Parts: sequence; structure tokens; C-alpha cells
Amino acid sequence: MDLGLNGRVYLVAASSKGLGLGVARALATDGARVSLCSRTANEVELAAQQLATQFNTPTLATACDVTQPAEIAQWVERTLNTWGRVDGILVNAGGPPSKAFTEISDAEWQSAFELTLLSSVRMIRATLPHFTHGSAILTITSASVVEPIERLGMSTVMRAGVAGLVKTLADELAPQGIRVNNLIPGRIDTDRVAFLDQQRAQRLNISFEEARAQSLKSIPLGALGTVDEFGKAGAFLLSPAASYITGASLRVDGGMLRSI
Ligand code: NAP
Repeated sequence: MDLGLNGRVYLVAASSKGLGLGVARALATDGARVSLCSRTANEVELAAQQLATQFNTPTLATACDVTQPAEIAQWVERTLNTWGRVDGILVNAGGPPSKAFTEISDAEWQSAFELTLLSSVRMIRATLPHFTHGSAILTITSASVVEPIERLGMSTVMRAGVAGLVKTLADELAPQGIRVNNLIPGRIDTDRVAFLDQQRAQRLNISFEEARAQSLKSIPLGALGTVDEFGKAGAFLLSPAASYITGASLRVDGGMLRSI
């Protein structure tokens, strides 16, 4: 299937590695121009160079912390100055820390709000004036929007807000032909998931391999997802091929979530 991505321009947030890079790679594979960002300049530059070389498509890399509105504005402006258009954005950031409710301070709740919910609002607000009919917004949340995850209360609470934002905007922006969707990763093989498994292994006094084997039991397809499997779903939802899909949350979870 031709996704219709050739020549289109996408902002892909938090994309030097992990899920963001997986979506950027899938977009670039199909001929889109991708503007990557993350906080660490040399890592995002390396990722963008590798995509440009591998897929022979123009890429941009910008050091941008998505909790900082001025940095988001610079990232968007640089992309527009370079390519003159923006067709969509992947709204993404790092995840809040893993803690039990009684361990979380007000300052940590505030940081989680700024990292997960307010950054989403700000990224969408910064790009919206440049969108036209056929543009698309895609968020990444978590399986926690369906089932709470142990010790990830900050993520669960803030991502519920992002899921609400997606449905609200899908209604508000539909008259302008702008689609808004959400991806729900189950357990995709990234550094963040490895870090969470490591923390769990330490807490339970078991090996990393045991912690991982336990978590695989809850995934019907029997494996972690790859960032490329995740990225393909993202590229589809951002592409013109998904022109009749808005307000949807797509699970990329190997069957992990049990609800119908
Ligand atoms: P990851 O492998 O740790 O990658 C995180 C990426 O985000 C890196 O490129 C990082 O680069 C960038 N980043 C982090 N904070 C940022 C910020 N404030 N501004 C800009 N860039 C930032 O994580 P991941 O697994 O891809 O996860 C991405 C998101 O999906 C997270 O919110 C995570 O909680 C959520 N999620 C993932 C899974 C999964 O299965 N992997 C499941 C549920 C939810 P820098 O450090 O250089 O900024």
C-alpha cells in the first residue's frame, strides 16, 4: 500500500531513539521528510544523519526539550524555514518516573504534568496554525490509559488527560480536515522498558531475565514489540492512507490488553 507520504513533512518529538525514532524511520522509509528532536544534540543529530543516509530523504535534527515552550517554537520554526510546510506531528516525550503514590511529591506531580500533558498541549498549539486540510496529529500514551500499571501512577493520571485531549481535538479539528489519533504502546523493546524491567527486578530481588520472562507471559504474541513494528503503525496513522481515521486509539501491544 502506498501511504502517500512522499514529500510530506513531519515533526517527530523525542526521537533520538525508542518509539519516536521508530515512527521517524517508518515515515522516512516511505519518503517523508522528518524533523527530529530530543534534548541531547549529538544523539538526535546522529539519528537524523543515519535516517538521511539510509533512506535518501532530507532530515533535520534539533536539540529541544519539549517541556520548554520556547524550544518547541524554535523547533517548529526551523522546520518551516527549511521546508516551508508541516503535515503532521508525533507528540511524544520521555516517561515520568516509576513510584508508588506515597513516594510522590507535589514537585514530581508538577513535573509529570509538564512532561506528559502540558508538553502535548504546547506541541499541538505550536504546530496547529501551520496545519492544513489533511494534516494529522498523533500522540503516544501507554497501556495505562486502559489499565493502570503498577508504580506508574503519574503516567496513568497524565496520560488519561492526553487521551481526553485527543478525543476533544478530534471533534474540534475535524471541520478543518485535521485528524487526531493516539497510539497505545504495550511493551515495546526500548531503553525505557529495559530500565523499568531492571528496576522491577531489583525491587523483587530477581534477575532481569526473570522479570522479563514474567512480563512476557502477559503478552499473547509472546514477545516485546520492536520499535519498527510500532513505527509502522505510527506512520500509517499520520499518513493520508488513514484519511478516515480520527479520534482513535490504536493498541500496539501484541494482545496484552485484555479488554474488548
Ligand atoms: P526511550 O527509549 O527512553 O526514548 C525516549 C526518547 O525521548 C529519547 O530520544 C529521549 O532523548 C527523548 N526525550 C526524553 N525526554 C525528552 C524531553 N523532555 N524533550 C525531548 N525529548 C525527550 O523511551 P520510549 O520507550 O521510546 O518511550 C517514549 C514514550 O512512550 C515515553 O513517554 C514512555 O513512557 C512511553 N511508553 C513507552 C512504552 C514502551 O513500550 N516503550 C510503553 C508505554 C509508554 P533525550 O534524552 O536526548 O531527550
